[in-house]
Amino acid sequence: METIEQLLESKNIRVTAMRLLIYKFLAQKETAVALSDIENAFEKADRTTLYRTIKTFEEKAIVHNIDDGTGIVKYALCEKGCNCEIENDLHLHFHCNNCGTTVCLTEHKIPQIKVPKGYISEDVNLVVKGICDKCSS
Ligand SMILES: [Zn+2]
Ligand SMILES: [Zn+2]
Ligand SMILES: [Zn+2]
Repeated sequence: METIEQLLESKNIRVTAMRLLIYKFLAQKETAVALSDIENAFEKADRTTLYRTIKTFEEKAIVHNIDDGTGIVKYALCEKGCNCEIENDLHLHFHCNNCGTTVCLTEHKIPQIKVPKGYISEDVNLVVKGICDKCSS
């Protein structure tokens, strides 16, 4: 199995202790996290470093950002092999109106969306809102 070090190196990201810690933090989360969640988890770390790490991860398709309509951008790890391409990789997200969590529905890809001639899609964000499985049971 590929280690986190190998994964980062395969994406041309220099491995640092902080990057490994943040990756592990994201990997153990079942829900998307806000930057403030990361800051709270790493209180002693420099906030700029945390922010830059997330930005680096985003640029290299390690994480993707999610606008769930709450006004707070959230981040979640990409699936293995993801390049954050509209046609192949983008999936639905689900935001629970009850507990406020946002999760990736990676099995549910965003359907091909045709835009008029002359328009170029750069990002698509589809968020389903409702009650999550934990809150509905
Ligand atoms: Zn991705
Ligand atoms: Zn819920
Ligand atoms: Zn996602």
